[in-house]
Amino acid sequence: MKKGKKLYEGKAKIIYATNDKNLVIQYFKDDATAFNNQKKTTIEGKGVLNNRISEHILSNLSQIGIKNHLVKRLNMREQIIKLVEIIPIEFIVRNVATGSITKRLGIEDGTVLKEPLIEYCLKDDELGDPLISEEHIFAFDWASKTEIDKVKKMILRINDFMIGLFRGVGIKLIDFKLEFGRIKIDGKNEVILADEISPDTCRLWDSITEKKLDKDRFRKDLGDLIPAYTEVAKRLGILHEQSNVSAVNITKLSSVKRKKK
Ligand code: 5GP
Repeated sequence: MKKGKKLYEGKAKIIYATNDKNLVIQYFKDDATAFNNQKKTTIEGKGVLNNRISEHILSNLSQIGIKNHLVKRLNMREQIIKLVEIIPIEFIVRNVATGSITKRLGIEDGTVLKEPLIEYCLKDDELGDPLISEEHIFAFDWASKTEIDKVKKMILRINDFMIGLFRGVGIKLIDFKLEFGRIKIDGKNEVILADEISPDTCRLWDSITEKKLDKDRFRKDLGDLIPAYTEVAKRLGILHEQSNVSAVNITKLSSVKRKKK
């Protein structure tokens, strides 16, 4: 598979064309941004960890029948994915109220929700990804009723599965963001899960201590992010428990390998 030109660069990822028109390469950067790009830095090794964690979650989701864009991980920082037309909506799923919802609605931080809450935000950095309703989605044709119905069903299964996956390794899944894309499979229009699922896009708290193991460490200056993401990867069995290899070392190892070739 040949890597072609850059098609799109986002805050945390770059998409490259390939010689197959239906497939693209998703490259995970080390850049971290928060508060609509007002806070920015580079965290060495973050992309490597997110690539591995997202691969793990998306391949597990495939196994339970959740169609998604992942084809396979190529190397430390890249995945081959199916080219989709991204639906311009961020689907936020909440099990516990924290973050923007507590400020917006005055809800006490840490309130456990009776059932999962799905919120929709328009994917528009200039507008700061504003919260929208289903009526907005249909009024402005951002997605059809059929697509939203399919997405909502998938979201609830994804949430159930991920709650269990993380609970099994002593982590509470507080909330997360999903993106979906349109694709034609065997001539049929389908909606599949896209983007990434990682500690950049989820809130993950240790089940006992409630220590934050996600991007809030960066957003709220809670301390190093790499040890927390490494902890998530280790607990999920992606990095071996006994190994002391940090993501930074992995990055260095992979660049040494590349130079040797
Ligand atoms: P909140 O609305 O409380 O800021 O975020 C809710 C959840 O969605 C959090 O897990 C957060 O990480 C995720 N999320 C919301 N918007 C974005 C975004 O633009 N980028 C990323 N990486 N995650 C987001």
